[in-house]
Amino acid sequence: MQPNRPGVPSRPPAQHYSPFSAPGSTQAMRPEQVQNPKFPGQPVNSTGTSFQGSSVSFPPTITPQGPEQRVTQPVRPNGPAVPFQPSQHLPPSVVGPPPPFVRPPTGSFMTSQPTPPPPGSSTSQQFIPSLGPRTPSVVPSPSVPLGPPSQAANYMPTGGNVPQPPIQYSPQYPQGGPPSVPTSGPPMQQSFSRPYSSGQGPQIPSFGPRPFPIPQPGIPGQQQSFPRLAGPPAFPGAAFQPPVQPSYMDGQQARVLPSYPTAGPPTGSIQGLIEEFQSLSVSSVPGSVEAGLDPISLPRPLSEADMDVTSSSSIFVSNCHPRYLRFTTHALPNSQSLMARWHLPLGAVVHPLAEPPDGEEIPVVDFGPSGIVRCRRCRTYINPYVTFTDSGRRWRCNVCTLLNEVAGDYFAPLDMNGRRQDADKRPELTQGSVEFVAPTEYMVRPPMPPLYFFLIDVSISAVRSGMLQVAAETIKSCLDKLPGFPRTQIGFLTFDSALHFYNLKSSLTQPQMMVVADLDDPFVPLPDDLLVNLSESRHVVEALLDSLPSMFAENINVESAFGPALKAAFMVMSQLGGKLLIFQSTLPSLGVGRLKLRGDDPRIYGTDKEHTIRNAEDPFYKQMAADLTKYQVGVNLYAFSDKYTDIASLGTLSKYTGGQVYYYPSFNATLYKEKFRHELARDLTRETAWEAVMRIRCGKGIRFTTYHGHFMLRSSDLLALPAVDCDKAFAMQLSLEDTLLTTQTVYFQVALLYTSSLGERRIRVHTIAVPVVAELGEMYRNADTGAIMGLLSRLAFEKTLSHKLEDARQVVQLRIVRSLQEYRNLYAVQHRLAGRLIYPESLKFLPLYGLALCKSLVLRGGYTDVQIDERCAAGFNMMIIPVKRLLKLLYPSLVRLDEYLQKGPIKDGADIKDLLQPMASSADKLDPRGAFLHDDGFRFVLWLGKVLSVDFVLSLLGVEAASSRDLSRVPVIEQNNELSRKFFATLEILREKDPAFYQHCYVLRQGEQPRESLLLLFNLVEDQIAGTSGYVEWLLQIHRQVQQKGK
Ligand SMILES: [Zn+2]
Repeated sequence: MQPNRPGVPSRPPAQHYSPFSAPGSTQAMRPEQVQNPKFPGQPVNSTGTSFQGSSVSFPPTITPQGPEQRVTQPVRPNGPAVPFQPSQHLPPSVVGPPPPFVRPPTGSFMTSQPTPPPPGSSTSQQFIPSLGPRTPSVVPSPSVPLGPPSQAANYMPTGGNVPQPPIQYSPQYPQGGPPSVPTSGPPMQQSFSRPYSSGQGPQIPSFGPRPFPIPQPGIPGQQQSFPRLAGPPAFPGAAFQPPVQPSYMDGQQARVLPSYPTAGPPTGSIQGLIEEFQSLSVSSVPGSVEAGLDPISLPRPLSEADMDVTSSSSIFVSNCHPRYLRFTTHALPNSQSLMARWHLPLGAVVHPLAEPPDGEEIPVVDFGPSGIVRCRRCRTYINPYVTFTDSGRRWRCNVCTLLNEVAGDYFAPLDMNGRRQDADKRPELTQGSVEFVAPTEYMVRPPMPPLYFFLIDVSISAVRSGMLQVAAETIKSCLDKLPGFPRTQIGFLTFDSALHFYNLKSSLTQPQMMVVADLDDPFVPLPDDLLVNLSESRHVVEALLDSLPSMFAENINVESAFGPALKAAFMVMSQLGGKLLIFQSTLPSLGVGRLKLRGDDPRIYGTDKEHTIRNAEDPFYKQMAADLTKYQVGVNLYAFSDKYTDIASLGTLSKYTGGQVYYYPSFNATLYKEKFRHELARDLTRETAWEAVMRIRCGKGIRFTTYHGHFMLRSSDLLALPAVDCDKAFAMQLSLEDTLLTTQTVYFQVALLYTSSLGERRIRVHTIAVPVVAELGEMYRNADTGAIMGLLSRLAFEKTLSHKLEDARQVVQLRIVRSLQEYRNLYAVQHRLAGRLIYPESLKFLPLYGLALCKSLVLRGGYTDVQIDERCAAGFNMMIIPVKRLLKLLYPSLVRLDEYLQKGPIKDGADIKDLLQPMASSADKLDPRGAFLHDDGFRFVLWLGKVLSVDFVLSLLGVEAASSRDLSRVPVIEQNNELSRKFFATLEILREKDPAFYQHCYVLRQGEQPRESLLLLFNLVEDQIAGTSGYVEWLLQIHRQVQQKGK
């Protein structure tokens, strides 16, 4: 047994061994166990004192005065982890001296062991201070909601009655993580909106087939478009409101601002009043006595343009691109009474780090030492909508109207139109999206390096499924591409029934493994060398990754000490923060955080307790998530089991740390390797914003009430995001604070303060102006179905965390019905459209997407329809995905392939979307003579018709596929012929369109049950199957309910 460091005089028995046997050695790797040494009477390590000293008080509210967020932890690269509390308002000099740090005696391994408190001691100071925020046996519920997460739906806001958000925070976090932390806990997402009430409005019948409504006379199946009419006001009570004209920019008239296109000229005409709207005739179909709709006439999003923003913001030319920020309607109600008539969610979906198309970049602005120009009062960042006055010496804030002085070095004279002469050279004055380089006052510790820590399950199922092998290979292949070279840090911890640490010190030739079997009080045996600089220790890291699969190849351990392993990983990471990637194959079975098999109890379904299995069972997970976020650790969970692993509990770690849940049920490396490999590689190499916080400011009279996504709410409006990337979107609802808005435009500004992988503190700012309107029709005309679905889907998933699935589906339906009913009241009577379902052009796909949402994995059916883990994973996914990805998931594309593939190779420059014609998502389209591809952005399903030529299948996928009855186990491999090459090239092109997820291609033959139903038929949105409505039935239900409510 070798001491891991020279000069260690003695140590507790059997602390260390090297499993990485010397070259040529065949010695079996028999880890010996490191015992947690007890040193009663030993002075508590130095950092213990820092718990009480130099504490930084956490302000009760984050006023808009300061930078978005500052990070207060001093960096002491070699010291033990010192928990810190990010704080505002405190420049580095105010934070106080770093806590005293006494480095453990050089070479002394022993003294760096944690020192447990004397028996009976309540101080429980630990050497590893990250043990500080220890999870108490009982976590008080007020700090960390233990019940279902917020049901944040703000249905039918009733004006000023939206309660104030409870500001949850730890009033004081002493530097270093005080014992008090667990008892107060950082805030979780809050719920302060009225939950959906089943008592509101008439009850909607349950989701499912219903009797058709009474046939209405009319023209069957005709879709009509009513162009905007001009003429005298014909509708009583519909008083004309002058169109909204923005009032701003007295200094920037030079910029040509088109008038608000839908508001019409201010001439008193009623152009703004009468909508262009669509209608569908609901009547008897020829040859039938029942009411119906001609399916052909129904609106469907069959082109990519259909998924783009429908509302235009051409009036505000400096608005940020909708890929970053979309409002559910780009026209805000001017009063609470008007808002009450808007039955859809009112809010926005923000995607702060959305990837711009090639060739487009967000300009970077560096103000240098003079600092970023911001409003003195509301801290809005300077943007294209501020106005300069007083010969350029002052500027008026567009958000709060305060006049600010222009600093000397930012001064520029104005031209004849009052516009700054240098405006065109200043992106911050012309573009809606800019990135500011943040000076030192936006940081109170040096920007952290990118840090990746891997927590890998090495129990029998992780090994046998091939997960460990693929994970190790993929991580190794990505080492060159990890962002942040040469500062990137890396570390590993593996676990089964014990914890395995790896010393990766650069002076070693092979990593050294240390095993800790004490699960009750896990400790970090070697705090200094578990996290290392990747470029310095590259050879050791590669040696570890090369040997990991073989080291555990014979492992037959079935246990999972996941909780203790997580705590240990937290201790290692808590000094710097970073990204924690968890690879989990089994239900946690040992130590803290062990979970029960609870998802397979059918008796709970349909009861009032049904939602409990969709929530974390053990408060340990929420508490850990709170601690992780506080120390800037973001968690991505990769789950692989073929059995229940309680994704609901495990995913909580990602939910509150800004992370992501990847789920590979019944993972088998032979079949699904590529999907896992691609998605892990994307996770490791995509640009990541570290130690980030995000806030959205808006003008007076409006405020955001709820936030939905993966983050931790740190104050009422500050979202903590330890690690956020280009694949995360967030949604929020807003409400009016005042009864009446007097402004004609409201400005919003998203600010994301983060550390870039290259170590620069940056602030990404998106600014948008939204007109205020007095007419409901304007709100409808400017509605954005994509943003509505982004918000509605998140609300619906959150609803399932406190209610039955059926309740959540009903709310989706109710909202659609109410909005169409309100719309109908605006126009139907005048147009004698009794027998028609009418809807605004902007919402033409809303009913279909609503149906698709009800049929999604998140909301579909009941107990038997979707495995609980799969449902929870789908829900976590739905909380983060951006709008376009969501719409594709809700209404996947279905294309016929056989004819296309036989037309010869893809020509250079040909656009795939011109070659493949998407069709309605219905089994009617599946021709038994053809081959079809279903693509929801997450997986492909290749459907082979019963009478499709055997030769075609043979060419496409080879002998095995052509002859096998069960295609589930047949690898999808390219064959050496033109047809097959074209097929695989097509799949690649489709995958490249959105690289965030990798579509594994499932192949099935018509009639191959139950795979055909599970993989495809249940996902054909328009079909009536398994107790769900089809598109036609759904529209008829909605029409019937709209009419009932309309009376
Ligand atoms: Zn201001």
